[in-house]
Amino acid sequence: MLPSKIVCVGRNYRDHAKEMGNDVPTEPLIFLKPPSSVIRDGEPIVLPPQSSQVEHEGEIGVVIGKRLRRVNSTEARSAIHSILAANDVTARDLQRSDSQWTRAKGFDTFCPMGPPANPPANLSTLTVVTRVNGQERQRGSAADMVFSIPDVLAYISNVMTLEPGDLVLTGSPAGVGKLLPGDEVEVEVLGVSRVRNPVKTDA
Ligand code: MG
Repeated sequence: MLPSKIVCVGRNYRDHAKEMGNDVPTEPLIFLKPPSSVIRDGEPIVLPPQSSQVEHEGEIGVVIGKRLRRVNSTEARSAIHSILAANDVTARDLQRSDSQWTRAKGFDTFCPMGPPANPPANLSTLTVVTRVNGQERQRGSAADMVFSIPDVLAYISNVMTLEPGDLVLTGSPAGVGKLLPGDEVEVEVLGVSRVRNPVKTDA
Protein backbone atom coordinates (compact mmCIF):
# COMPACT_ATOMS: atom_id res chain seq x y z
CA MET A 1 0.00 0.00 0.00
CA LEU A 2 1.21 3.50 -0.78
CA PRO A 3 1.47 6.22 1.88
CA SER A 4 -1.17 8.95 1.54
CA LYS A 5 1.73 11.38 1.67
CA ILE A 6 5.48 11.48 2.05
CA VAL A 7 6.76 14.33 4.21
CA CYS A 8 10.46 15.10 4.09
CA VAL A 9 12.81 17.21 6.15
CA GLY A 10 15.53 19.24 4.46
CA ARG A 11 18.90 20.18 5.95
CA ASN A 12 18.50 18.06 9.08
CA TYR A 13 22.22 17.21 9.33
CA ARG A 14 24.74 20.03 9.82
CA ASP A 15 27.35 18.48 7.52
CA HIS A 16 24.89 18.19 4.62
CA ALA A 17 23.55 21.73 5.07
CA LYS A 18 27.16 22.88 4.99
CA GLU A 19 28.09 20.96 1.83
CA MET A 20 25.11 22.58 0.10
CA GLY A 21 26.21 26.03 1.28
CA ASN A 22 23.17 26.45 3.54
CA ASP A 23 22.72 27.38 7.17
CA VAL A 24 21.04 24.92 9.51
CA PRO A 25 17.37 25.93 9.76
CA THR A 26 15.99 27.19 13.07
CA GLU A 27 12.90 25.00 12.69
CA PRO A 28 12.37 21.90 10.53
CA LEU A 29 12.22 22.63 6.79
CA ILE A 30 9.54 20.35 5.38
CA PHE A 31 8.43 19.45 1.86
CA LEU A 32 6.40 16.72 0.16
CA LYS A 33 7.14 13.98 -2.33
CA PRO A 34 4.14 12.49 -4.20
CA PRO A 35 3.12 8.84 -3.61
CA SER A 36 3.67 8.33 -7.36
CA SER A 37 7.43 8.67 -6.74
CA VAL A 38 7.56 5.42 -4.71
CA ILE A 39 9.44 2.39 -5.96
CA ARG A 40 10.53 -0.73 -4.05
CA ASP A 41 13.72 -2.71 -3.72
CA GLY A 42 15.13 -3.74 -7.11
CA GLU A 43 13.05 -1.38 -9.23
CA PRO A 44 14.99 1.11 -11.38
CA ILE A 45 15.45 4.81 -10.67
CA VAL A 46 14.70 6.46 -14.02
CA LEU A 47 16.72 9.59 -14.84
CA PRO A 48 14.34 12.12 -16.41
CA PRO A 49 15.32 14.04 -19.56
CA GLN A 50 14.76 17.41 -17.81
CA SER A 51 17.76 16.93 -15.49
CA SER A 52 21.47 16.35 -15.97
CA GLN A 53 22.24 16.04 -12.24
CA VAL A 54 20.17 13.48 -10.36
CA GLU A 55 21.60 12.72 -6.91
CA HIS A 56 21.05 10.17 -4.15
CA GLU A 57 20.07 11.18 -0.60
CA GLY A 58 20.06 8.17 1.70
CA GLU A 59 17.66 8.71 4.60
CA ILE A 60 16.02 7.06 7.58
CA GLY A 61 12.32 6.63 6.78
CA VAL A 62 9.65 6.53 9.49
CA VAL A 63 6.26 4.90 8.93
CA ILE A 64 3.40 6.28 11.03
CA GLY A 65 1.28 3.79 12.97
CA LYS A 66 -1.63 5.90 14.13
CA ARG A 67 -3.23 9.21 13.29
CA LEU A 68 -1.24 12.16 14.63
CA ARG A 69 -2.65 15.64 14.90
CA ARG A 70 -1.04 18.36 17.01
CA VAL A 71 0.84 15.95 19.23
CA ASN A 72 3.97 16.43 21.30
CA SER A 73 7.21 14.53 20.82
CA THR A 74 6.36 11.84 23.37
CA GLU A 75 3.06 11.05 21.69
CA ALA A 76 4.76 11.09 18.30
CA ARG A 77 7.43 8.64 19.45
CA SER A 78 4.80 6.14 20.56
CA ALA A 79 3.07 6.31 17.16
CA ILE A 80 6.05 5.12 15.11
CA HIS A 81 5.06 1.91 13.35
CA SER A 82 8.32 1.06 11.62
CA ILE A 83 11.64 2.23 10.23
CA LEU A 84 12.88 1.73 6.67
CA ALA A 85 15.69 2.71 4.34
CA ALA A 86 14.70 5.39 1.84
CA ASN A 87 16.28 7.44 -0.90
CA ASP A 88 15.18 11.06 -1.40
CA VAL A 89 16.32 11.11 -5.02
CA THR A 90 16.74 14.71 -6.15
CA ALA A 91 17.31 16.48 -9.47
CA ARG A 92 19.86 18.90 -8.00
CA ASP A 93 20.00 21.21 -11.01
CA LEU A 94 16.22 21.63 -10.94
CA GLN A 95 16.26 22.11 -7.17
CA ARG A 96 18.64 25.03 -7.73
CA SER A 97 16.72 26.55 -10.65
CA ASP A 98 13.22 26.26 -9.13
CA SER A 99 12.16 28.36 -6.15
CA GLN A 100 10.53 25.31 -4.55
CA TRP A 101 11.27 21.62 -4.84
CA THR A 102 8.15 19.88 -6.13
CA ARG A 103 9.65 19.15 -9.54
CA ALA A 104 13.17 18.37 -8.34
CA LYS A 105 11.97 15.87 -5.73
CA GLY A 106 8.80 14.59 -7.35
CA PHE A 107 9.65 12.59 -10.47
CA ASP A 108 8.37 9.03 -10.79
CA THR A 109 10.84 6.57 -9.19
CA PHE A 110 12.41 9.27 -6.96
CA CYS A 111 11.38 7.62 -3.68
CA PRO A 112 12.84 4.13 -3.25
CA MET A 113 11.45 2.51 -0.06
CA GLY A 114 12.97 -0.52 1.64
CA PRO A 115 11.08 -3.07 3.72
CA PRO A 116 9.77 -1.78 7.08
CA ALA A 117 11.17 -3.12 10.36
CA ASN A 118 10.40 -2.56 14.03
CA PRO A 119 11.94 0.60 15.50
CA PRO A 120 14.76 0.12 18.03
CA ALA A 121 14.21 1.09 21.66
CA ASN A 122 16.61 4.00 21.20
CA LEU A 123 16.09 5.82 17.89
CA SER A 124 19.41 7.63 18.16
CA THR A 125 21.18 4.31 17.54
CA LEU A 126 19.95 4.33 13.92
CA THR A 127 22.66 4.77 11.28
CA VAL A 128 22.06 5.26 7.57
CA VAL A 129 24.67 4.37 4.93
CA THR A 130 24.50 4.96 1.18
CA ARG A 131 26.63 2.99 -1.27
CA VAL A 132 26.98 3.51 -5.02
CA ASN A 133 28.32 0.47 -6.90
CA GLY A 134 29.36 -0.95 -3.54
CA GLN A 135 31.34 2.13 -2.46
CA GLU A 136 30.24 4.01 0.64
CA ARG A 137 29.20 7.61 -0.11
CA GLN A 138 27.16 8.69 2.90
CA ARG A 139 26.98 7.75 6.57
CA GLY A 140 24.90 9.47 9.21
CA SER A 141 23.58 8.79 12.67
CA ALA A 142 20.18 9.81 13.95
CA ALA A 143 22.07 11.11 16.97
CA ASP A 144 23.49 13.84 14.71
CA MET A 145 20.16 15.13 13.42
CA VAL A 146 19.44 18.81 14.00
CA PHE A 147 15.85 17.91 14.93
CA SER A 148 15.19 14.47 16.42
CA ILE A 149 12.77 12.05 14.82
CA PRO A 150 10.04 12.56 17.48
CA ASP A 151 10.47 16.34 17.26
CA VAL A 152 10.12 16.22 13.48
CA LEU A 153 6.95 14.12 13.67
CA ALA A 154 5.43 16.44 16.28
CA TYR A 155 6.32 19.49 14.19
CA ILE A 156 4.71 18.03 11.07
CA SER A 157 1.60 16.99 13.02
CA ASN A 158 1.08 20.62 13.97
CA VAL A 159 0.81 21.44 10.26
CA MET A 160 -0.93 18.42 8.71
CA THR A 161 -2.52 15.28 10.13
CA LEU A 162 -0.27 12.27 9.72
CA GLU A 163 -2.22 9.15 8.80
CA PRO A 164 -1.31 5.51 9.40
CA GLY A 165 1.06 4.42 6.66
CA ASP A 166 2.35 7.91 5.94
CA LEU A 167 6.09 8.09 5.41
CA VAL A 168 8.44 10.70 6.86
CA LEU A 169 11.97 11.06 5.47
CA THR A 170 14.18 12.54 8.14
CA GLY A 171 16.98 14.18 6.16
CA SER A 172 20.21 13.27 4.45
CA PRO A 173 23.75 13.32 5.83
CA ALA A 174 26.66 14.72 3.80
CA GLY A 175 28.06 12.97 0.77
CA VAL A 176 25.22 13.34 -1.73
CA GLY A 177 26.35 12.74 -5.29
CA LYS A 178 25.35 12.23 -8.89
CA LEU A 179 23.82 9.01 -10.20
CA LEU A 180 24.71 7.76 -13.69
CA PRO A 181 22.99 5.21 -15.93
CA GLY A 182 24.20 1.75 -15.00
CA ASP A 183 24.90 2.66 -11.38
CA GLU A 184 23.43 0.69 -8.52
CA VAL A 185 22.58 2.69 -5.41
CA GLU A 186 21.90 1.13 -2.05
CA VAL A 187 20.63 2.77 1.12
CA GLU A 188 20.85 0.75 4.33
CA VAL A 189 19.66 1.61 7.79
CA LEU A 190 22.23 -0.64 9.40
CA GLY A 191 20.76 -3.89 10.63
CA VAL A 192 17.21 -2.65 9.98
CA SER A 193 16.30 -2.15 6.31
CA ARG A 194 17.95 -1.89 2.92
CA VAL A 195 16.85 -0.72 -0.53
CA ARG A 196 18.93 -1.27 -3.65
CA ASN A 197 18.05 0.16 -7.05
CA PRO A 198 19.64 0.22 -10.50
CA VAL A 199 19.76 3.56 -12.33
CA LYS A 200 18.71 3.96 -15.95
CA THR A 201 17.81 6.66 -18.43
CA ASP A 202 14.27 7.34 -19.59
CA ALA A 203 14.21 5.27 -22.76
MG1 MG B 1 16.49 14.78 1.54
